[in-house]
Amino acid sequence: MMRFFYDVAIFYAGIVTTTRITHATPAAAYGHCAHRDWECDTKIPESERAFGCKDLARQLVEDEPGRNINVILGGGEQVLRAKMNESKACVRGDGQDLVWNWMQYQRAQKRKYRYVRTREQLLDEGVHPSTDFLLGLFAPNHIPYDKERSLGPYGQPSLEEMTHQAINILSRNPNGFVEGGRIDHAHHDNLAKIALEEVVAFDKAIQKGLAMTNLDDTMIVVTADHSHAFSMNGYPKRGNPIEGVGDKTPEGFAYQTLSYINGPGYTIHRTTNNMPGTNSTLQTRNTWKDLSHLGVNVTSDRTQVHLAGFWMDSETHGGEDVPVFSTGPMGHLLHGVHEQTHVPFAMAYSLCIGPYETKCRKGGGGGGDHHSKGHGHPAGKTNGGSTPSIARNNNNLWLLTTTTVFLLAISHTC
Ligand SMILES: [Zn+2]
Repeated sequence: MMRFFYDVAIFYAGIVTTTRITHATPAAAYGHCAHRDWECDTKIPESERAFGCKDLARQLVEDEPGRNINVILGGGEQVLRAKMNESKACVRGDGQDLVWNWMQYQRAQKRKYRYVRTREQLLDEGVHPSTDFLLGLFAPNHIPYDKERSLGPYGQPSLEEMTHQAINILSRNPNGFVEGGRIDHAHHDNLAKIALEEVVAFDKAIQKGLAMTNLDDTMIVVTADHSHAFSMNGYPKRGNPIEGVGDKTPEGFAYQTLSYINGPGYTIHRTTNNMPGTNSTLQTRNTWKDLSHLGVNVTSDRTQVHLAGFWMDSETHGGEDVPVFSTGPMGHLLHGVHEQTHVPFAMAYSLCIGPYETKCRKGGGGGGDHHSKGHGHPAGKTNGGSTPSIARNNNNLWLLTTTTVFLLAISHTC
């Protein structure tokens, strides 16, 4: 989808994420790679390097469309430059400083560019009026969870703040991709409460996007690229805190409203003792830890690991359908559940780009009331009668997603 943006020179484009900028979902906006882990050169197997496979960080900085993306905000500084003692992000083996290379390229193109590393630098009032190309990397690895960010001047911005500044810069002709990427990470650790906090942070970014754009000419798409093995279960009473215990079994065993099918929460919720019981069924039940002390109140521990039904070191993604929500021009084409490849084509259709570039009536042309910005009309009948073309040009697009699959589906192997 993002490639469509760059096929049309008038578009500005941006990527905003709370993960490493080279992580699976944001990388799908600019990279072509056989494996999501090939974020820096040392992650590519020697045998594959011989085929000329290039790591995602270099693709972002050196190739089309990455080097022409106007706004790039996220984490993962270590992946692009020197080792920063971050064990969970890969370390370059080629000694390249890709941030420096990015600046050199922008300078050679005579562009107004800026590199920022802190919240204060990003929110500097002077940034957006004088910048056309902005690179911001705010952490060596992922940006910390929203409630764990450092809020000082040298800290990290929220997803909402990054979205705000991205739209400021892209407001000349914006298209963007915003990812609340750490919802996924909290789920993998069965940290339900942190996952919900990250959803709230994502929601604020959506609100910011809606407030700063005009739905007459801006399509906004909100979706997830996959689900998690996560469930709201039981019969909690109305008003019961969702992070707490939902109810008890007839025998008095309390259970949480939010639970996982698998993940580390299995062992954490089991006792090591085979506690005595009156029969084998009760004996088995007695190996579960007693949560009654939590009552219906929310534990103050936001890092409480929620129950999982099967042990895994990291909880898996889920396989069910995820919804797509959309508003703005042609927003009615995306609602509820769709086959995934329909989504980028609907977005391209709204923008009059890619396969639909010649199927739009361009602004200023004839045809009465339906040729300018805003709500276009499908070819054929309109209220005014027959209109043989579609007027949707000059629209903008913002895609907001919570995490990997559907954008990767339009990526290719390197
Ligand atoms: Zn995941």
